[in-house]
Amino acid sequence: MQQQCFHNQEITRIYLQPDSQAVQLLCEECIEDKGLTTKFDQLVLLQKVKKQPEELLSKINLDNTVKVFLSKLLKATEDDLKNTKRKWNDRLQTIKQILDKLINETETYFDQLKKELEDFRRGLVTIVNFSRFEQLIQDDQQANKEIQIVNYIKELESGVTGQKKTDILNLINVYKEKIKNTQIPSITDRLSFITQEMNDYQTTVNKYSQKCNPDIHPQLPQFPIQQSSKILSQRNFEKLLERITNQKRYTINLIYQAQQLGINSESFWNSVNNKSNLLMIFKSKNKAIFGGYTPCQWKKLSTPLQQGIYDDNSISFLFCQNGEDLKFFPIKRENKPAIILNSSQGPNFGGDLNINADFQGGTINLGTTYSNDIQPGQPQLVFGSQNQPNINECEIIQILHQ
Ligand SMILES: [Zn+2]
Repeated sequence: MQQQCFHNQEITRIYLQPDSQAVQLLCEECIEDKGLTTKFDQLVLLQKVKKQPEELLSKINLDNTVKVFLSKLLKATEDDLKNTKRKWNDRLQTIKQILDKLINETETYFDQLKKELEDFRRGLVTIVNFSRFEQLIQDDQQANKEIQIVNYIKELESGVTGQKKTDILNLINVYKEKIKNTQIPSITDRLSFITQEMNDYQTTVNKYSQKCNPDIHPQLPQFPIQQSSKILSQRNFEKLLERITNQKRYTINLIYQAQQLGINSESFWNSVNNKSNLLMIFKSKNKAIFGGYTPCQWKKLSTPLQQGIYDDNSISFLFCQNGEDLKFFPIKRENKPAIILNSSQGPNFGGDLNINADFQGGTINLGTTYSNDIQPGQPQLVFGSQNQPNINECEIIQILHQ
C-alpha cells in the first residue's frame, strides 16, 4: 500500500529542510496547504527519483560542480530518448521509402531506354537488310568478299533516298518521341525534402549529444548539409553564408524558389510572411545577379499599410556577383529602416533596392541606407543594361542559427 498523509492522499514528494536537518513526506495537497509550490529546489518528486537518482542528488548538500552537472543531466530522460528515437526511426523510414521508390523508378527508366534502343536497332536492321551484310562477312567461301561488301554499301547509299530514307526518318521520329515520353525520375522535390530532414536530423542528434553531456560542447559538424544556390556559384554562396553566420552553427532552409511567371508579389509575401533571417538572391533577364540579407522579420501587411523595420545590430547588407567577384554593401549605422514592408510591392531594402510587385520594374538608389563605397574596377550593384530588375529567377533562403 502507498504511504499516505492526513489528507488521505498519496505521498508524492519529499520536502528537504537542510537547516533543520529534517524531511517531510507530502502529498500534492500538503504542498498547496503549506505554500511550498515554488520551492522546487527543496521538493523531490518521488516518481522521478525512481528513474533518475539525480532528482535527489542534485538537491542535497553535495559538491557544487557535481550538483550543477546532475541538475543539468535531469533534462535527459529515458522517455525522451525513447520517443525521439522512435520519431526519427519513422522519419528515416520515410526517407528510405522515398529512396526505394527512386530505385524502382530508376530501374524502370533504364529498362525502358534499353527497350527503345533495341526496338530502334531492330527496325534499322530490317530497313537496310543488314542480314545480307552479316552473311557477307561470315561467308568464308565467298570470293571477292571485299567487292561484295563495297557493293552492299553502294547499294545502301543509293537506296537510302526514296522509300528507305522515309522509313529511316519515320523510325528516328518514332524513336525520339518514345525517348521524350519516357518519364525521367525527378529528384528536385525529394532532394529538398531529404535535405530538410537531414538538417533537422543533424540538429536533433547534436542536441541530444549536448543534453547527455551538458558540460562539454562536443565537436559537432560545423556545417550541416549544404544546400546550394541555383543562381550563385557555390563559392560565392558559401562566402555569403560565412558572412551571415560568422562561423556559428546554422541550418538553411530554401523557402522560395521561382522562375519567370512564377515570381510575383503574392507568392513572395506568402512565402516570407513572419520569417526572419532571409537571404534573397535575384537574377535578372540579362544575367545580373544581386540580392540582400537582413535578420529583420518580413511581414505581409494588409494594403495600403507600409512599415519600415530597423536592424538594431546593423547586420543587413546588399550584394552583387560579378563573375567570381562578390561585392557587399553593408547597411550604414544611421538608424534607417533596413527593409520597408509593403505587400502591394516586391521586396524593398531600405529604399536602396526596391523591386516592384511584378518583379520587372524597380529602382536602385544605393548609398541612402546601404553604403556604396565602390573602388574603381569593383562590381557595381546594377540591374544590367536595361536598368530595370527584370527578375527572371529568385531564391529565398532562411538561415536558422542554432
Ligand atoms: Zn497531504
